[in-house]
Amino acid sequence: MEQFDVVFLGTGSPLPSPDRCGAGHVLVAGRQHVLVDCGWGAARKILAAGIFPSEIGTAIFTHMHSDHITDFPDFLFLRWTSGARTPLRVYGPEGTGEMVEGFLHALRRDIGFRLAHHGDKLHPDGILVEVTEISPTSRPEPFFQREGLVLERFEVDHFPVVPAFGYRARFDGRTAVLSGDTTFTESLLHAAEGADMLVCEALNTRMLEERIRALRAIGRDLQASLFEDIPSYHIDVADVARLAARAGVRQLVLDHLIPPVPSAGPELDRFTAGMEAAFTGPIRVARDTERIPVTGAAS
Ligand SMILES: [Zn+2]
Ligand SMILES: [Zn+2]
Repeated sequence: MEQFDVVFLGTGSPLPSPDRCGAGHVLVAGRQHVLVDCGWGAARKILAAGIFPSEIGTAIFTHMHSDHITDFPDFLFLRWTSGARTPLRVYGPEGTGEMVEGFLHALRRDIGFRLAHHGDKLHPDGILVEVTEISPTSRPEPFFQREGLVLERFEVDHFPVVPAFGYRARFDGRTAVLSGDTTFTESLLHAAEGADMLVCEALNTRMLEERIRALRAIGRDLQASLFEDIPSYHIDVADVARLAARAGVRQLVLDHLIPPVPSAGPELDRFTAGMEAAFTGPIRVARDTERIPVTGAAS
């Protein structure tokens, strides 16, 4: 059976956390490495997760929220200076081209400095990016097929972030679905049907409400009121469990945790408490730099 893993670079959200960086993953499918989102701190976790940045030939983005994109320029430089000799293929929703162009514009002088300093040790194509913006579809539709790996996108509900995508990856008879940022939505339920792994964002509303009360108690009313807006476009852990059960997924992995909780201990246990009542399969909370294999029915 060929290698098919999801490597977690960042399992947090925009909320600062010492344990969990912004969103970032690498899909490893045989020899192919696909970066999925690259939020704050995620690029710095690539080597720590045992992946050489130059191995990544493709990057896909779920949506243009800062916690999914702001480490992308750092990744581009790490990829280039670790030996990339070909342009990076990038796919994402409308806005992806503008985002890439803006980061490359910001890096323009340094690209010149590096070339002047290192000469032909750095291949000029290794810092190039080829962007393809893909249209939203309610049902998963392929936009990438290479060496047996098929990537499909589907639109999720992260309003007012439009469009926002989830992704489904099919490889060697197995399927992994990444929710992106979303509420409970039919398109995610449909895409996740029978998936071997569902990687789903997760909000624990009760724990978020505790943080809101704590912020109010110390007079941080602006923060508290911004936090109150969070549940309208994320999915509560109870709904994640229900969705995974209805879709019949084999393994559920949580990331993009709101609020961020440590990698171990009572807060982590509270985060998932009660989910097993709805979903009886394995539930894991991913940690930064963790690698989780997508196992199929036979394994
Ligand atoms: Zn996010
Ligand atoms: Zn978002």
